[in-house]
Amino acid sequence: MLKVVLFLLLVTFSHVYAADKIERGTCNTVMESLALTPPNPEITKQLEKFVPAGTSVVSKAAADKLAKMLNISTSQLMIELIPLAKKMASPPISEYYVGVVGRAKETGDLIFGVNLEFPNHTLNQTVHGEQFMLARAMSLKVKQIESLAVSASPCGHCRQFLNETDGGSEMNIFWPKTEVFKLKALLPFSFGPLDLGETSGLLNTKSIKLKISKSLTGDELTLKALEAAENSYAPYSKNYSGVAIKIHRSKTIITGSYMENAAFNPSLSPLQAALVNLVAEGFKYSDIEALALVEAQKPDGKASSSQVESTSALLRSIAPNANAKYVKAKWE
Ligand SMILES: [Zn+2]
Repeated sequence: MLKVVLFLLLVTFSHVYAADKIERGTCNTVMESLALTPPNPEITKQLEKFVPAGTSVVSKAAADKLAKMLNISTSQLMIELIPLAKKMASPPISEYYVGVVGRAKETGDLIFGVNLEFPNHTLNQTVHGEQFMLARAMSLKVKQIESLAVSASPCGHCRQFLNETDGGSEMNIFWPKTEVFKLKALLPFSFGPLDLGETSGLLNTKSIKLKISKSLTGDELTLKALEAAENSYAPYSKNYSGVAIKIHRSKTIITGSYMENAAFNPSLSPLQAALVNLVAEGFKYSDIEALALVEAQKPDGKASSSQVESTSALLRSIAPNANAKYVKAKWE
């Protein structure tokens, strides 16, 4: 009799556990989620030999080779890469380093994300690790992130930001505790693009067409900012905007496109997005020689938003000697 009771208890418990896992969301199978372990310092040492410092994207081909060499799954590799990603972080205020590794659905490439904090400026200009990763994904023309390994539980701000992407609610998120959750389980009863009538979310949007004054069409920096604005995501304010940064003593131009959010506040400005690419490409804020911002506003003249004041303020904090040009674009 006791054996029967124990058996029934075991069956009931297993069922509840499995149901709980399915409710929260699993990666591919419950077994895979159970097999994930925290980053192993020995593996970090091995990975450092093959993933050079400054890496911000690991191609699928390279990731497959690494996973095979280490005899681990791609999901586990993402967790093992977190300590390497963290090295790119710049959190001088909190000194709290965040590392994120996202996996692009179409290509299988692994994209790193870290947090950026700006001294002598408001905390609300802080770029979170998940935002960094999505801004990189947008620059790389990635349409969807399938899964995400994180060094710490994603904050509410980031859950909201990730929820803006197409299919984002199905994104698998690996905790440091190695459990796997779908975003929709971490953000129940969410508010997103669909609530505001948008059918295509962040990353998966078509570019728009804008025009600037003919006198500026010979200026390469402005043209790059225009291109970034045309590829930005601003369905709610129509404040389509982009930033282009010229690197000191170099022909390199780094760009960033505005990334808006249905809840407004977690939006990432075009300058923040450009700084993500600047850091990912191995440059410093002091390398900024000049900046151009191109932005459009609502064509009907109704209330919109503008990036000019916040761009100017943040630029003054990080690169006070940089030249800046602010250009209004019109709809074509
Ligand atoms: Zn966050």
